[in-house]
Amino acid sequence: MNKENEEPIHIFSSWCKRCGICTAICPKNVLENGPDGYPFAARPEDCILCGMCDAHCPDYAITLKAKPEVKEEGEHE
Ligand code: SF4
Ligand code: SF4
Repeated sequence: MNKENEEPIHIFSSWCKRCGICTAICPKNVLENGPDGYPFAARPEDCILCGMCDAHCPDYAITLKAKPEVKEEGEHE
């Protein structure tokens, strides 16, 4: 049921300067630095979409593919 090929975040490599902040700050250790120094989601299933990597990337190179909190639905009339 888990989509291993579906990463919860997207990293724009062309914007990334390989500072390593996202890898260091992720509370779930989702990210790892690849051989070239670029981060990638090594454990996408562990991502809790906390947005820490997105918020702290100095180059805005990370985008969350889903919102952390979107459970509030206005179905109640
Ligand atoms: S959203 Fe949170 S848990 Fe997911 S990769 Fe970023 S810092 Fe890690
Ligand atoms: S915080 Fe941003 S610039 Fe730094 S390694 Fe992560 S994606 Fe690249």
